[in-house]
Amino acid sequence: MKTIDRRSFIKTLGKAGIGSLLAVTGTRESTALTSVNQFAEEKRVPTRPFGKTGIQVAMLGFGCSQDLNSKHLLLKQAIKMGVTYWDTAHTYNNSEEAIGNYFKKYPKDRKKVFLVTKSRSSDPARMTRSLETSLQRMRCDYVDMFFVHSVSDVKEELTKATKVWAEKEKKKGRIRLFGFSTHKNMEQCLSAAAKLGWVDGIMTSYNYRLMNSDSMKKACDACAKEGIGLVAMKTQAPFFAKVFADIGKEDITAQSLTAQFIKKGFTVEQAKLKAVWENQQITSICSEMTNMTLLKANVAASMGKPKLSGLEKTLFDLHASQTASYYCTGCAEYCEPEMACDVPISDVMRCLMYAHEYEETERAMNILRQMSPDILNRLAVADFTPAEMACPKKMPISILINEVVKILA
Ligand code: SF4
Repeated sequence: MKTIDRRSFIKTLGKAGIGSLLAVTGTRESTALTSVNQFAEEKRVPTRPFGKTGIQVAMLGFGCSQDLNSKHLLLKQAIKMGVTYWDTAHTYNNSEEAIGNYFKKYPKDRKKVFLVTKSRSSDPARMTRSLETSLQRMRCDYVDMFFVHSVSDVKEELTKATKVWAEKEKKKGRIRLFGFSTHKNMEQCLSAAAKLGWVDGIMTSYNYRLMNSDSMKKACDACAKEGIGLVAMKTQAPFFAKVFADIGKEDITAQSLTAQFIKKGFTVEQAKLKAVWENQQITSICSEMTNMTLLKANVAASMGKPKLSGLEKTLFDLHASQTASYYCTGCAEYCEPEMACDVPISDVMRCLMYAHEYEETERAMNILRQMSPDILNRLAVADFTPAEMACPKKMPISILINEVVKILA
């Protein structure tokens, strides 16, 4: 079995020219500039039409996968600034209860919000149970969008029974729209959904690293043609500051990007949002804004100007291609079937990103535990060589999985 240790891998990157990269920024928290913040205070987030539904939705959505019980003020401010697309899920800890408590306190705000929740399953009986629990928790009698959570195979998961259930619930008035979220095999999921003809919306991983592949462009075009509303998540694809710090060299591309954006008055994190909004097919961005600073920074970014220049888009593209072998694009159809045992490699890679780049170790651990209680043991003994050979990004899967085991053990 071919093994490469972390140091050798980093040396290899150095020889390949990527070793000259040392990210100068990478934190998810935006530190918005004061003038831009003040601008955001006075304005409301613009809206875009949600596919062919005719519903206008805020370009910036509030990600509710966080402890919201002590954050009613933040929710109130989000509404004031027009951040009225709220995304939660049956499995987001106490998020739905917290939203319910908020609506109990401010009942008039329910109608101002485009409320989204998700079910772990596409099985009709389980979706019914999930929806009823969510409605009860959130003290509502309907949600605006009901997603099946984390779909990776549309043909397998969105069955005829799922369609019948969605139509029935729409008639009952308990859901307005139906769709799914995906961060695995996204391009295939989007393309397959466009052929179904009954999906209203999709929330997909989408960022400056994912948006430029031909398959993603085609998938978005297919959805747009069918009038499916698209919401982007995972828009803050990292610069891998910590990994590249090991190399001890400079990341010229990241430095140029940062300098360029600061000159124009916004941060790299705001620029990453702008890069996504450049695509008019994206209705909204779902962002987990945990405090007022981040909320204001993202609201400011949603305002019309300044836009990204051609040079800035090129720098983003360049950085994405220079660091491609660090970023898992969720194309699990290549690597996972090659494994002798059942390991959800792309999901584990996502957990590594949460733990390593975003410093959200507990979140990563929770997701891993949901996969299976003995996942870390299984990861520790699995042979990832065949998966590595199949990975089109040439990701050093064994090394990265070792990182996961080390960080989360
Ligand atoms: S490890 Fe490679 S093949 Fe597997 S999902 Fe990630 S990028 Fe795709």
